[in-house]
Parts: sequence; C-alpha cells; structure tokens
Amino acid sequence: MSTTGHALQFAPPAASTEARCNLIGLDRQALEAEMAAIGAPAFRARQLWHWIYHRGATDFAAMTSLAKDFRARLAEQFVIERPAIATAQHSVDGTRKWLLRFGDGQEVETVHIPEEDRGTLCVSSQVGCTLTCTFCHTGTQRLVRNLSAAEIVGQVMTARDQLGEWPSPQDGRLLSNIVLMGMGEPLYNYDNVAQAMKIVMDGEGISISKRRITLSTAGVAPMIERCGRELNINLAISLHAVNDELRDQIVPINRKYPLATLLEACRNYPGLTNARRITFEYVMLKDVNDSPAEARELVRLLKGIPAKVNLIPFNPWPGAPFECSTAAAIKRFSDIVFDAGYSSPIRTPRGQDIMAACGQLKSASIKKRRSESAAAAP
Ligand code: SAH
Repeated sequence: MSTTGHALQFAPPAASTEARCNLIGLDRQALEAEMAAIGAPAFRARQLWHWIYHRGATDFAAMTSLAKDFRARLAEQFVIERPAIATAQHSVDGTRKWLLRFGDGQEVETVHIPEEDRGTLCVSSQVGCTLTCTFCHTGTQRLVRNLSAAEIVGQVMTARDQLGEWPSPQDGRLLSNIVLMGMGEPLYNYDNVAQAMKIVMDGEGISISKRRITLSTAGVAPMIERCGRELNINLAISLHAVNDELRDQIVPINRKYPLATLLEACRNYPGLTNARRITFEYVMLKDVNDSPAEARELVRLLKGIPAKVNLIPFNPWPGAPFECSTAAAIKRFSDIVFDAGYSSPIRTPRGQDIMAACGQLKSASIKKRRSESAAAAP
C-alpha cells in the first residue's frame, strides 16, 4: 500500500510537519547515502533515480522493478513530492503559467513557452528578488528567500507532469529548454541552482543538455566564471544600459559590479566561442536607454566578446514607472547592432495576457497576504 499518493493529494500546503524525506532534489550521492542509511545497496539509488527522473513516478507503489516490501519501506521513510499548483493559467498564445506553492506556503511562478522548434520552461530561483531593478515587477516583491534544489527541480517535474511528458522522450519534447529567467537572481542562489541543474542535465533522467539551458544574471560578476566552469551552460546578461550612470539607476547591482567588471567577467566566461555566445538582454525603455548613440555604445562595449543581443520590448505592469520604446526606436536600435555584426532579434512578448512575460512575474498571494496583514494592523 502506498500512503504517498494520499499525502500528496490531501496534505494541506503547509505540510511542513511531513517527517518523511523528499527524494526530489537529492543528487546521486545523497540518494545513495539515504539508501545506505536504510541498509540498501547503491544500485537501489540508481533504480530510484530512473523511476523518479526518467519515468516521473510519484508513488513508490508504481516502481515495479523493486520488491513489494522494499517499496512499502520506502513509502514509510520517503516521499517524491512536487510543489502544489496554486493556480494555472493558459495564454491565448499557448504560454502557460503556474503559481506553485511550497511546504511553507511561499510561492513562485513558472512559465512554459511553446515555440515551433522548442518548448522553453522559465524557472524561478528565488521567492521574490533582492535586486530591485526599477523596470521589473518581481523586484517590487518584498518577501524573499532562496529556493532549495528540490524546489527548483520540482518546477521542472511539475511542468513535465502537466505537459504529460513522462517518461523522458528522446526528441520532439514539449519541454526541451530551460531558462533560469523567472523570479530571483540565480547567481545569488548558486549552490542550489547548480545542484538542481546537475540533476536536470543527468543523462539517465530528465536529460536536458547543457546547451539547452541558459542562466540569466543581472551581473553577479564574481560568480560568473564558476558557473561556466562547473555547469558549462549558456549565459545571458541583463545589461539594459551602456553607461554606469544609467545602469546604477535601473539595475542597482551595477553599483557593486560596474560595467567594466561585468564585461571582464563575460570575456572570461569558460567555453565561449563564436558558436557559443553570451546573450545580452536589453529591455527597451522609451527615452531612457533606446537612442542610436546608445546602440553604438553597446556595439563598442561588446567588442571582442562572442555575443548576441536580445532586445526585449518593455512589458508593462501595474504602476510601472516606464513605457515601452516605440516600434521605430526599437527597429532603429536593432539595425545599428545588427549592422555591426551581432544578431539582434526583437523578442515577441509571450503570455502578456496572463502576466507571464519577462519581468511580470510576481506571486499575487504574497501581495494579498501583505494587504491582509496591513488591514489587520491597528
Ligand atoms: N535576475 C536575473 C533573472 C531574471 S531574468 C536577471 O536579472 O537576469 C528576467 C529578464 O527579464 C531579465 O533580463 C530582466 O531584466 C528582464 N525584465 C525584467 N522586467 C522586465 C520588463 N518589465 N519588461 C521586459 N523585460 C524585463
């Protein structure tokens, strides 16, 4: 008999009283250690890995290659627990957004963006974000904590559940790519992000290649080299301004790691070649950073770095202090960058109708809780 399924179905969201250990998020060594602790040999960990990450099992009872009494023992000690889905939204353009709730009631958003030749999952690394970039909705959320490796991997597992994509298909996947571009700054939670990505990349499980994973950072310069060396995934930089004066204002982490420091770290990113470039993201803010002179300065700054530029039309949110650049200004900017030899696509916003586009993510429940607590104040 399995109690796991019941625990998942009926446990209240704040099931932190759960004494059983969640196996999701443990790396192979940790899983082996758990098995050793209950007297099971290391190959049991390999079997479990296959069931959890290749087959997507949520219930030990389904693991038919394991002896029945062993399955029962596992169910007594462990769970295979995903985050709960608080809300699910579907955009007219096919984009899906899930608000996921963890054991302590904290929530993040995860977005799936289907395209013709791929399907990208935009994964969050923190509840909220400490960076306070002035154009980003997530930065206005006050409650912040790091996500655990289990909570990061859990976003991928839940998305795969929802897309009906178990066992891991070879090709033609609905979830083929991952971008660490959701809520939070992934390089402020590097250890958990790294552990989660190693699990997701493992060839005997979810098996998403490092070439299909992109980490986006606002510019935590000292962590960039390590990220490339250890994970070897694609790097994206949220640049958004070409001089320190403006970048200090709109991407405040620039005061700590100014442009020269950040670009030096980019130049030294391990594994950079012309076939493997850094993506520089540039949000188009009307009359703020969208002049032809700034486009030319961008080209100058990128000199010598294998780079491509993604121009992101600003996505509005309630009370945002910016407007999106005009189509003509964006085109003019893109042409200058393109003529200098850089790919400079203008990103089409996806999922705008469900507030799923870049910079729009923010968990409403936290807003609600804050206003509730404000209302409760004397
Ligand atoms: N903290 C990381 C991960 C977030 S990625 C980072 O800053 O890179 C989210 C991307 O969306 C970043 O490039 C961010 O700058 C961009 N973004 C934020 N708000 C936006 C908005 N309102 N419109 C368009 N892009 C936005």
